[in-house]
Amino acid sequence: MCRPSVAIAVQCLVAVFSRATATTVKRHPATVVMSFDGFRPDYIRPDLTPHMAQFRDASAAPPYIRSAFPTKTFVNHFTMATGLNPETHGVLDNTMFDSHNETMHYTYEQFHYDETVVPIWIQNENNGEGRHSGVMMWPGSEFPYQGKHPTYTEIYNNSIHWNSRIDTIMSWIEDENQPANLVFAYFEEPDKTSHRKGVNSQEIKNQIVRVDNTVKYMLDQLKYKNLEEKINLIILSDHGMETVTYDKIIFLDDYISNMIYKSVISGPNAFILPNIGKFDEVYTNLSSGAYTSKTFYVFKKYELPDRWHMKNNARLNGIIYLLAKPSYAFWYSLYQTILDKTTKEMFRAGAHGYDNEDPQMRALFMVSGPMFKKNFTAQPFDNVDLYPLISHLLALDETANYSRPVNGSIAGVEQLLLSSKSSIVDTSSSSTSSPSLHVLASIIAATYIQALKKYQ
Ligand SMILES: [Zn+2]
Repeated sequence: MCRPSVAIAVQCLVAVFSRATATTVKRHPATVVMSFDGFRPDYIRPDLTPHMAQFRDASAAPPYIRSAFPTKTFVNHFTMATGLNPETHGVLDNTMFDSHNETMHYTYEQFHYDETVVPIWIQNENNGEGRHSGVMMWPGSEFPYQGKHPTYTEIYNNSIHWNSRIDTIMSWIEDENQPANLVFAYFEEPDKTSHRKGVNSQEIKNQIVRVDNTVKYMLDQLKYKNLEEKINLIILSDHGMETVTYDKIIFLDDYISNMIYKSVISGPNAFILPNIGKFDEVYTNLSSGAYTSKTFYVFKKYELPDRWHMKNNARLNGIIYLLAKPSYAFWYSLYQTILDKTTKEMFRAGAHGYDNEDPQMRALFMVSGPMFKKNFTAQPFDNVDLYPLISHLLALDETANYSRPVNGSIAGVEQLLLSSKSSIVDTSSSSTSSPSLHVLASIIAATYIQALKKYQ
């Protein structure tokens, strides 16, 4: 405790300043989301990923979470960022037809099907009171939404070392003037390597170990900076992964002439756009092929299952949608690239995009921090629920926050929380918030003067 001597008062001031600059989580509880693309929950093993295994045991974690359909990267990262189902936010695959029936891949148009759709990193800042977001390479983050970018953005660049990315994240959180209270960070592996090597390869093991070392680096940073109990850390993935061998590749040319349709194909998923007047012929031929081969499904727009939350979207107008059965995939350019370097017998490709009820498509989720239970095994939930979870963690004003109703629900994720919603808000406004430096200095000075008067 401070006693009234000038030297001790100065020491007290220094101590308070040090604590304040060390945390910089002043007004709002901070949340960091780290996504490792295509990391299957069953990759975590004590011998292979000791740090992630330990983190999972100590944290609140379900065995897995359910991805949105199709189980693709852009679809799921945008679902988690917006709290909306794919048919609402409109990102229906990594590669799709644009409004001119040309192929689009990571374009402004792809992420702006509906201008009322706004990611939570923008909504966080819309809530004001010194809230700042930082987004590191998260799919869709380099585009403005309603004309706005987050305070901090790093666009996708896989040459940037992962530890350097974490150093940057920490600098955003610790910035003295504009500390980030929300960070989304994307890491491209093990997905990137899986696509070319399949699931059970040494190359994938190397990437899984790399992820584990990166999680360790992040945890070490939080420990070193005394932020372990001040930041909610969510570690997750977007989908699982499955291996496709050459004998499981579907060639659409076996069933239909490629002269009567255009297509956008990526692994298990295909958008088929029949030429004018050819819709029925294309649908009949593909349906016949699906029936005889038993390797894929064919859907008209309104035949898509409701549970996929995909069909009510204008981007599917005039489209016939194909989905391969588990471990099958449609031939496309990537597979030629892989085959150029190997034999048909040795061909192994990783694929995802399958039915989100396929166990191989399950995604990772684990969370630690002041608002979460510890050593807690949760029930699986949908990744669309991440948005309402973060909204509560950050104590966002739901009226201002939800410019449109989200599809996710707090009901599925409340089980992870240490306290109910009301006490979360109380916690965020008391124990985890701190007055600014000049307020702290004023308090110390006033206490010192008051004590001097008392002793005089
Ligand atoms: Zn992915």
